[in-house]
Amino acid sequence: MNNIIYLDNASTTKVDERVLETFNKAHQSYFANPSSIHKLGQEATYLLNRSKDEILSNLKLKDHQIIYTSGATEANNLAIKGAALEYKSRGKHIITSIYEHASVLEAVKQLSDEFGYKVTYVRPNSDGIITVDNVISQLTSETVLVSIMAVNNEIGAINPIKEIGEALKKYPKVIYHVDASQLIGKTDKLIDLNTVDLLTISAHKIHGLVGYGALIKRKKLTLLALSSGGGQEYNFRSGTNDLAGALALAKTIDLALKSQKDNYEKVRFLANRIIEYLSSKPEYYELNLPHPINSYIINFSTKKKGSVVVEALSNHNIMVSSISACSSSKEKGSYVVKSLGKSDETANNTVRISLDATNTSEEIETFIKTIDQIMGEIR
Ligand code: PMP
Repeated sequence: MNNIIYLDNASTTKVDERVLETFNKAHQSYFANPSSIHKLGQEATYLLNRSKDEILSNLKLKDHQIIYTSGATEANNLAIKGAALEYKSRGKHIITSIYEHASVLEAVKQLSDEFGYKVTYVRPNSDGIITVDNVISQLTSETVLVSIMAVNNEIGAINPIKEIGEALKKYPKVIYHVDASQLIGKTDKLIDLNTVDLLTISAHKIHGLVGYGALIKRKKLTLLALSSGGGQEYNFRSGTNDLAGALALAKTIDLALKSQKDNYEKVRFLANRIIEYLSSKPEYYELNLPHPINSYIINFSTKKKGSVVVEALSNHNIMVSSISACSSSKEKGSYVVKSLGKSDETANNTVRISLDATNTSEEIETFIKTIDQIMGEIR
């Protein structure tokens, strides 16, 4: 579609042609099953392992191995249920945050409802951040797992993932999981992820294919497999390996990391302009920004009905979200914005703009002009 202004890049991004090319080429050339012992199968195994080495090296992870999954949702489920159930003899207490993605919250809820785990939900501080102290102060002798997201998908808060991991080193029985779906490639530089035991990544937030992701696991840990079968992925996730998808994910991450610094600068410039406009109209908007700001995600509430504003923008070919796409059909208001201590009124009328380096200043000016006009027109 022409003339679409797409500002919903935290929901998903348009796939990069180079990723598609890698995927298609792999399907044509390397279609053999990596579990086959013949020459073609062995070639596929070699490429599969190489894709993992490339991702680990790009993420500068030294002590980890990769389990490919169908995305972050599956990776989060495997991390949380797989670790908590495998290590249940260490205790049945889990710490997570109140504003995690549904795939974390629901996995933890299942452990609580069906398997008797106790869960502590840590709240963000007034800047929207989960602090080290907040997490560490909740540890008990029964804590088996801590799961904290790197970047919140609705408000963009960037959590001190490395520092939480460093503090957790004093508690070697506690397994540390991080959902980094909105982090990789979306900061000014790669942060050190070596203190994380289990790391979730997703391809389609950074111009990869929908349906691809990985759980990156510290080698020495084991997990209870949720998908049993032929023993692929070190026995943690059985099913015929998807080599084309693996190569496409490795390509996605490589491209995202190579351009992340430049991309961040572009996005920061656009975000500053949007924030400048929104701040100049307190009669129309309330900003729901974390501190420090993450330029990729700008969340605000409208003084008119948020869903009506989102729909009106869509009618003008401008795509933004009201709340995260994963929960927008189920929830009335944003539990993430509510967790900042904001009123129901504010949480019920949120708008999320999520940027990409392919967005332009012209698009942002059109967005500003259009939303300003819409806010003036809605009663
Ligand atoms: N975690 C976070 C923080 C996300 O933003 C998303 C996507 N909305 C997911 C998990 C789920 O990702 P996937 O679509 O790859 O399952």
